[in-house]
Amino acid sequence: MMIDYHMHLERGPFDENWWLKFWEEEKKKNIQEIGITEHGHRFKEFRPVYDHIPITAPWCDSNLEEYREFTTFLKEKYKIKVGVEMDYFPEKEKEIKELLEEYNFFDYVLGSVHFIDHGFGFDIDPNDPRWTENDMEEIFEDYFDKVEKMIKSNLYDIIAHLDLVKLWGGRNPKNISSIYERISKVIISSQMSLELNTAGWRKPVKELYPSPEFLKIISSYNIPLTFGADAHTPEDAGRDIEKAYQIAKDLGFKKISIFEKRKKILIDLR
Ligand SMILES: [Zn+2]
Ligand SMILES: [Zn+2]
Repeated sequence: MMIDYHMHLERGPFDENWWLKFWEEEKKKNIQEIGITEHGHRFKEFRPVYDHIPITAPWCDSNLEEYREFTTFLKEKYKIKVGVEMDYFPEKEKEIKELLEEYNFFDYVLGSVHFIDHGFGFDIDPNDPRWTENDMEEIFEDYFDKVEKMIKSNLYDIIAHLDLVKLWGGRNPKNISSIYERISKVIISSQMSLELNTAGWRKPVKELYPSPEFLKIISSYNIPLTFGADAHTPEDAGRDIEKAYQIAKDLGFKKISIFEKRKKILIDLR
């Protein structure tokens, strides 16, 4: 069964016609189960998680009641799951935990690191001066330090776009293999599922998240996967999911996770 568990409707309204454009594209690509995962930063109830990152303030354009109502309506007509893509900040673990307990209508929660030390949102602008002011080694180390803490926090179900920090391309730090080894061990001792996110193929790096080298290391452990196209527009819905499935099978992964009300169900990858 093919799943696409990472999708954003944020560029349009919570409206069935807008949703249908995504849905029809997914059907064309034979995706059987779809998860909508709006960004946590959109919702006013989640502001306590984001209030230290000023750039996110104008991104807050909705509330969870609207999201819950709209997706409840969709669930009556379409085979979908409802999730949220929630950022991880080490200093906000308490807020994230409390808010996810309070707003508990999600089938699963994607854990993402988009911001590293000093509020550097590294995936926003390739020309951000911080890319040249800092060593690539330091940026990667900082990013994977956050990822490691996120995995250990036990707050999330799925690790989203595991090596997002590479998105602009260019060279990897010299110690990248040891970082991959370290993070793989952290994943195996967690309960989390790992997302194969195809959006990397549409970014300058032109590579799946996680990279083939990283995936090869992880594939020696029996980690369940999810798949996500991370579409923000209908054309990208379900994009390259089939290709990612093939890579996962070729590497010997055996299981995928599907979720219901944050309960993980393992099924065979095929
Ligand atoms: Zn993301
Ligand atoms: Zn996303």
